[in-house]
Order: sequence, then structure tokens, then C-alpha cells
Amino acid sequence: MRFVTRFAPSPTGYLHLGHALSVLTAFDAARAAGGRFLLRVEDIDQGRSRPEFEAAIYEDLAWLGIAWESPVRRQSEHMAAYAGALESLIDRQLVYRCFRTRREIAEAIASAPHGVSEDMFGGEALPAEEEAARIAAGESFAWRLSLRKARSFLGPAYFSLVFEDDAGPIRAEPGRHGDVVLARKDFPTSYHLASVWDDALQGVTHVIRGEDLRDAAHLHVLLQKLLNLPQPIYRHHRLILGEDGKRLAKRDRSATLRALRESGATPGDVRAMLGMNAPQG
Ligand code: GLU
Repeated sequence: MRFVTRFAPSPTGYLHLGHALSVLTAFDAARAAGGRFLLRVEDIDQGRSRPEFEAAIYEDLAWLGIAWESPVRRQSEHMAAYAGALESLIDRQLVYRCFRTRREIAEAIASAPHGVSEDMFGGEALPAEEEAARIAAGESFAWRLSLRKARSFLGPAYFSLVFEDDAGPIRAEPGRHGDVVLARKDFPTSYHLASVWDDALQGVTHVIRGEDLRDAAHLHVLLQKLLNLPQPIYRHHRLILGEDGKRLAKRDRSATLRALRESGATPGDVRAMLGMNAPQG
């Protein structure tokens, strides 16, 4: 079987040990399978993405000994593609405009006894007249995936969605997220839509990433089904924790690859810190 995997960082901070585990796991897996390794820059959030962080990604990965194919796909250059994917969901009424503010949603979630549920988002478009009036008034809105519509669109297939993960097949529960935001007024994509679209476009067969994103896979396989895209195999690795026992974040400076490098660490030391052997061959 052909094997294509990728590392898809967002240039919103410096790469840290958690990223190193992701990229080395994916890169080693591609090498071991005689497959391909791709790098994708997920820079749709132009408010938080910065050129210096993108430059640092290339520098840090090269230092680690990673080799990737050119050209690198930069998501900010492909907004029209994501808008097209969104359009196809709009045409089939699988997404709807939700005018609830972030605060209203946060309050609804906070006061719900069982956390997120489908009905806290509305589930479908407002009556046409009200919607037209709110659009005309310039109100902002989010495009939410309607789980209700997805269920009636897919029928029984909705309930038999399964994805392949480390320990075997997992039955997908896309409902655990409620009706997620896939785009916003004047902004045609979210991470979920762009990532699923690009994995398919780039022929990614194996998505390898941290286990904090296992939850997202439950939604991603639904999006793949609705957009008629192939489903990759998923692999989720453990997370690297900081000294405080919490998952590393971009603010943990001492665990950034650049800080480690400046303190004299070698790529071999980074592998050893992650409990990884040197690659074979
Ligand atoms: N851009 C995402 C991140 O940095 C990557 C998610 C993925 O690998 O799908 O967390």
C-alpha cells in the first residue's frame, strides 16, 4: 500500500518537544514504509500566524534531520479551494448560518448539565425572512455543520462511520462536538474543513498526530463522508507533558526546539528525550 503522511504545524509560535514527537513519528513512519512525507503550513489564522514562526519551522525541522517535499502547501494560499468545499455544503444545506455570539454559546454550554449538545446551536437555518433581515443588518454569523441534516443526508451510513486508529477500528461519534463551526461570515474555513480538504487533496493515507486531536477525527470522518473524500488511517501519539504535568504549549519556552538547540542539545538528544531510537538506514 502506498504511504503518504504529513506534519501540519500552525506558524503561531516556535515548535516544541511535542511537535518534535509528531514530526519524527511521522517522518520515521514514512521512511520505514518507503512512503512520502509532506509538510503543510496551516496558516489560515492570519491574525496569529507570523512569517518568523514559519521561517523557524523550516529551520528547526531541517536541524532535526527532516526532509520534506517541495512545494510546501501553505493554506493561506488556497482559500478559494476551501470556499468551494464550503459552497458544496451550503448547496446541500448541510451547514447553516448561526447568529449566536460566542458568549451566548459559552453560556449555554456552561449551564448545560451534560455539556455540549446539538440543540444549543439551533440545528438549522432561521426562517428565511429573519435570516435575510439579520444579514441585511450586517450581523456576523458562523457557518455550522448541521448534524441533523447530516444524519438525514447520509441515512444509516451516519451511524456506521468507523475510523482506523492505533488500537483498531473506532466507531465515530461526530455528535460529541455538537454542530461545529466550519467557517464564518467573510472567512471560508475553519481548521477542520481546511485540514480534511488538504489531507484528501494531498493524498495523505496516514494522519499521524497527538492524541489531543483524536476527538477531531470523530468529526473529520463525517466531513470526509459528506464531501466524498477518501478516509485516511489515523495514528495518535502520546502527548509530551511539561514540568507542571500539563501538555506543552507554545508558551513553554524552555521546551522549544530552538531553546534546546541553543543550550547545546543535538537532534540525537531530542530523540533520546522523547524515548525514540535513531532511525534505521
Ligand atoms: N495545525 C494543527 C496544529 O498545529 C495540526 C493538526 C493536524 O495535524 O491535523 O495543531
